[in-house]
Amino acid sequence: MRRPPTDPFPTERVRPFFWKTCDSCKQEFRREPGWLIIIPVANLFVCEKYLCEECAPTLATALAWRRKYTEYGPPPQPGDFPAPPPKRRH
Ligand SMILES: [Zn+2]
Repeated sequence: MRRPPTDPFPTERVRPFFWKTCDSCKQEFRREPGWLIIIPVANLFVCEKYLCEECAPTLATALAWRRKYTEYGPPPQPGDFPAPPPKRRH
């Protein structure tokens, strides 16, 4: 038998009961539809990412965000690259 390759970690539409942080707009949401994106990191470790409905209204946008995340890594955050300390002159 043959079949096209399937996604081992499919992107699901979820309605989380507890507060989840959207990884695109950093707002928390609960009890409203969003997307659960599971990204395999290492052998048995996965990374769970959530997207709210406003950031990804359709499955295509959620998959596009996931493809961008897995290809280029997470987008840099404001505090990721702190300015170097000023040089001291004696
Ligand atoms: Zn969002």
